[in-house]
Amino acid sequence: MEAFTDQNETSLIIYKGEPINKHFPALQQSVYGKPLVYFDNAATTQKPQAVIQAITDYYSTINSNIHRGVHFLSQKATDAYEVTRNAIAEFINASHAYEVIFTKGTTDGINLVADAFGSYDLAPGDSVLISAMEHHSNIVPWQIACEKKGAFLKVIPMNEAGELLMDEYEKLLDDGVKIVSLTYVSNSLGTINPVKEVIRLAHQRNIPVLVDAAQAVQHIKVDVQDLDCDFLVFSGHKMYGPTGIGVLYGKEEWLNKLPPYQGGGDMIKTVTFEGTEYNDLPFKFEAGTPHIEGAITLLSALEFIKEVGLDNIERHESELLRYATEKLLEIPEVKIIGTAGQKAGAISLIVDGAHPYDIGVLLDKMGIAVRTGHHCTQPVMDFYKIPGTLRLSFAVYNTKEEIDLFMSSLKRAIRILI
Ligand code: PMP
Repeated sequence: MEAFTDQNETSLIIYKGEPINKHFPALQQSVYGKPLVYFDNAATTQKPQAVIQAITDYYSTINSNIHRGVHFLSQKATDAYEVTRNAIAEFINASHAYEVIFTKGTTDGINLVADAFGSYDLAPGDSVLISAMEHHSNIVPWQIACEKKGAFLKVIPMNEAGELLMDEYEKLLDDGVKIVSLTYVSNSLGTINPVKEVIRLAHQRNIPVLVDAAQAVQHIKVDVQDLDCDFLVFSGHKMYGPTGIGVLYGKEEWLNKLPPYQGGGDMIKTVTFEGTEYNDLPFKFEAGTPHIEGAITLLSALEFIKEVGLDNIERHESELLRYATEKLLEIPEVKIIGTAGQKAGAISLIVDGAHPYDIGVLLDKMGIAVRTGHHCTQPVMDFYKIPGTLRLSFAVYNTKEEIDLFMSSLKRAIRILI
């Protein structure tokens, strides 16, 4: 299915013969009598009708536990579950489908790696290297792993623009560093980090790298073989799919080396009271009944992205980002937080003389959904010495007209508050 941008009329992507936002039922509603403008996509995206329908279809025609039953429905569910795994492998260009592990989401994936890697290779005095712009989900699991083993965290610093200081990074890469873990795209600043270069430099010292792609896979093409990352994690709900399902990609070599994270269910081959033989990949890391419905219906979200085309998505969203940035710079009270050369998805801002929360509440009453606060990146807020920001984050269904409405509403809110 061809998708294209109708720039003259609506600046919306046309998908299956209709403006793309018409495929999202949640976007058709009004809030407080105003048409909903949804700019909180970094927190979670709305779902296309195809995903909603797939969830109904799953419970109407497939619902069954996987990998265990000989019966028709169990086989159908197992096949569909594995179809999504293959589609994910293709989406991120993994060499093998068994390098794709289903998780609850990005946080779960990082906890899995931090726990397993911590047991495997952290010792007193070792360090884990993260960046200054990490989401709490890529800080706290490593702190827990370090605490258990007497290891410690080191942090790659950033500049005022919100860009990593690569010279400092190289200096921090010493023999004590056992793993580097960083975000591809910052959820609070929008910065796209040079992860390929980060990985290349770490690999020169045989240090593995985990990439948090929670804010990347829905905006830009992610190719795990091209990046050469050792682990990569993301969440279904931020890429038009259901909540509670996510992906951990791991290189076969690493997934074989790491011990299991949780025990029970499909992660075993044989169990006796004397001991357990663990299952092969990917099942070794999928203990218990997984989120079967989530994994199966994630396929519809992948198909949606594929049909629209990541190139089209990237082009459309970077135009929205450029347009919104230009308009924001015209408002004297506004300061953009995060001005990196390469950005995707999100713009954070503060307003001189007004708290982000107060502006967020007023915008909400005008029908505009934004996020305010620290966005689970408190160290980023500490760096800029601010309590929080107001963040607008885009998805493929947003438009320039919505940005215009946001700008006039923001100006109104500023007039009310200052
Ligand atoms: N990392 C980043 C960069 C994120 O933006 C988020 C979600 N805000 C997470 C991790 C955590 O994702 P989840 O809550 O889906 O586990």
